[in-house]
Amino acid sequence: MIQRQHLLALTGPELVSFIGELGEPAFRARQVFAALHHRRLRSFEEMTDLPKELRAKLDSVATPSTLNIESRYLSADGTRRYLMKTHDGLPVETVFIPEERRDTICFSSQSGCPLQCSFCLTAQLGLLRSLTPGEIVEQVIVALNDAYGVGQKPQHGTNLVGMGAGEPFLAFESLMKALSIIADPNGLHILPNRVTVSTAGIVPRIRELATVSERPHLAVSLGAPTDEQRNVLMPINRKWPLAELLGACKEFERSLKRGERFTFEYVMLRDVNDSDEHARQLANLLNRHELRVKVNLIPHNAAEPLPYHPSSRRRVESFKSILEAKGLPAFVRRPRGQDIFAACGQLAARREANPAQV
Ligand code: SF4
Repeated sequence: MIQRQHLLALTGPELVSFIGELGEPAFRARQVFAALHHRRLRSFEEMTDLPKELRAKLDSVATPSTLNIESRYLSADGTRRYLMKTHDGLPVETVFIPEERRDTICFSSQSGCPLQCSFCLTAQLGLLRSLTPGEIVEQVIVALNDAYGVGQKPQHGTNLVGMGAGEPFLAFESLMKALSIIADPNGLHILPNRVTVSTAGIVPRIRELATVSERPHLAVSLGAPTDEQRNVLMPINRKWPLAELLGACKEFERSLKRGERFTFEYVMLRDVNDSDEHARQLANLLNRHELRVKVNLIPHNAAEPLPYHPSSRRRVESFKSILEAKGLPAFVRRPRGQDIFAACGQLAARREANPAQV
């Protein structure tokens, strides 16, 4: 079977060449780009401003959508989780988080994940494959259409976070291309400064991102303040230990532009990495590297069969105040969508929650 071109994977200029090869003028390509990204249409039949013959021609060689929405889960706090399947049957999960001032879409960069972070359910799937640029763009379109209606303008601004399933820096090319398509002013027009990408610590890519001018914000997941513990919780640390990781972070920090955010994330696991001593070790580590970034504390989201529990509120507060006393701004991230397995570290294509209507 000939694989049809996924049109969401093409930038504006690439779409002009693709449509040009079909013998069509550039204005048709602009029409198709607007239909896909501005009106967020997911089938050629809906593109009624295009001649019928062109729609048939396109349909024989291309497709506007490849993700199949299998289930949609709605949390009591308004968070929505979408479980989708790729054309080759692999799970993709996306989360929409409504907020007062801006809504956030958390997208996945891989189906499953090859990194074995011991506190994360996605790790148990292993790597199925990295997602294509089109599959990343399509997740955003699906979530926006569901939250606001097809083609309807979002009521709030939209932030994107690359914190769903997978390690985004192992799908770096797909990610960067998807972000450039998403930024197009004739389409979704969500600029890189509205996007935050989280890495478990793929050092060469942190260095590479530091050289990119239009780039997303960076968040680095630490999980432990010592190599000994991080080797266990986040085995990627054996390849790039803390000194190397923080060296790359320092380089990244030097390249920060005005208004650019740079965050460390620290998942808090009860009686594992949440003592006052851990907080002091973390603060000393960051201060030793003279990193003045903020730290987001993320209470672990219980996810069976993982052997971890969330830290108590008191523990989190004590940890936070130790960091602050040592000059590090610290914030506690409020968990969202726990009841539908949509929270951090819970994405593993689970079907147990009651699906809302697809
Ligand atoms: S925390 Fe992120 S990088 Fe680690 S296993 Fe889970 S999805 Fe992969």
